Amino acid sequence: MDEKRKSLLKSLPKIDEVILLLEKKDIYSLASREIVKGMTQKVVQKLRDEIVNASQIENSASRIDVNYVAQAVEKLIKDLHQCHLQRVVNATGVILHTNLGRAPLSPEALQRILEVGCGYSNLEFDLSRGERGNRYDHVREIICTLTGAEDAIIVNNNAAAVLLVLNTLAEGKEAIVSRGELIEIGGEFRIPDVMQKSAAIMREVGTTNRTRLSDYEKAIGADTGLILKVHTSNYRIVGFTEEVDIVSLTALGKRNGVPVMDDLGSGCLLDLDKYGLQHEPTVREVVASGIDVVTFSGDKLLGGPQAGIIVGKKDILERIAKNPLNRVLRIDKFTLAALEGTLIHYLNPDRAASSLRPLKALTESAGVVKKRASKLISKLRKEKFAALTISLKESFSTAGGGSLPLEKIPTFLVGVENSKISASRMEAGLRKAKVPVIVRVDNNEILLDLRTITEDEFTFIIRGLRQCLSGKNPAPA
Ligand SMILES: *Cc1c(COP(=O)(O)O)cnc(C)c1O
Repeated sequence: MDEKRKSLLKSLPKIDEVILLLEKKDIYSLASREIVKGMTQKVVQKLRDEIVNASQIENSASRIDVNYVAQAVEKLIKDLHQCHLQRVVNATGVILHTNLGRAPLSPEALQRILEVGCGYSNLEFDLSRGERGNRYDHVREIICTLTGAEDAIIVNNNAAAVLLVLNTLAEGKEAIVSRGELIEIGGEFRIPDVMQKSAAIMREVGTTNRTRLSDYEKAIGADTGLILKVHTSNYRIVGFTEEVDIVSLTALGKRNGVPVMDDLGSGCLLDLDKYGLQHEPTVREVVASGIDVVTFSGDKLLGGPQAGIIVGKKDILERIAKNPLNRVLRIDKFTLAALEGTLIHYLNPDRAASSLRPLKALTESAGVVKKRASKLISKLRKEKFAALTISLKESFSTAGGGSLPLEKIPTFLVGVENSKISASRMEAGLRKAKVPVIVRVDNNEILLDLRTITEDEFTFIIRGLRQCLSGKNPAPA
């Protein structure tokens, strides 16, 4: 070891020395003795490792100052106090952006969470009888009313719902599924893998592009536990294709005494055609086929919290409810509260379309989006940012979240270009703002899609731009 390393190592302050200094700064108001000590040890150890392992010592200082170490520890502890999960502005135009939390909740849903969360609740208590109740009771009635189903169970997410239903109905038995529906949703959700984990035996039928009723029929035998249909959510097979509709599949299951399940994915409760979008099978339509079980997400087209909703025949859902896996996957009180607060909107479908933010974003006319874009432009112009070129552009938004993959929704963007700061620097600056703004970059411009931005969020965009254009938050390019 060279002399420089040796003297630096020797100069590393003692843990107690650092702690003494931190005590003077009233560090124990921020964290316990144990945490402060552990964090100090961590910082000193990291410095020691750096001195020993760095190929070259760049630090020109000949000793490590105790103040420097104390400041590093204080910063780490202060960082722990910052909430890591935070609100962002989604300016990407991807409406159900899985990385950005999918569906924003309605004020009503948020109010339900507050009310239920701030005290005790009747989560599993039947108030009329004064005895133990069932957590699904709170939403069963409204879900059955909206979908026409006999019964409903809610779990953590739709992936969990699929796993639970497969395991209940087809553990150790064959689940028949079309080769055209063995899909990957992303984030490790692949139908064949989930089937394997559920202990159902995958029985593939048909081909990638064409599967007929006779394919299913021939596969039915003594080992059959279930016929599974999967919505191909995020992709489409076009051209020479054939698939079996749910009515024929349900009838086939009935003739053979085999339950039929549809993993619907998005779980649309609204006739999207009425709002100028392509047809997406609604849960009610699928339930009306007489199918045994349907599963869908709470936070895709439904516009609520992350949840997996299972609806269907009472006898089958009773079996699902009794599966020990159901206890593992069960929904919590906050999600249940938010789901209830979301479902209420659907009692009046037009109200749901205009008040649930993801549905509003999907169904709002391009003209209204354009007006909002013009408003943002005039607000930005008022700021008199130097060297900024602001323009209005036509483009397309997407539904995201594996929903409506072919839908290109006309939208308006605001393009912002700065002759002094590169677009990637602006993008990074906005991403690191107090309320981060997530934008697209195209050539030397950042693009803000007004379809996913509300007027309330303009202030965050303006503050973010002020910060990154003033250079107060220099983000690396
Ligand atoms: C999205 C989706 C899932 C997974 O749902 P999560 O709620 O994200 O767990 C499962 N199946 C299909 C068909 C989907 O589209």
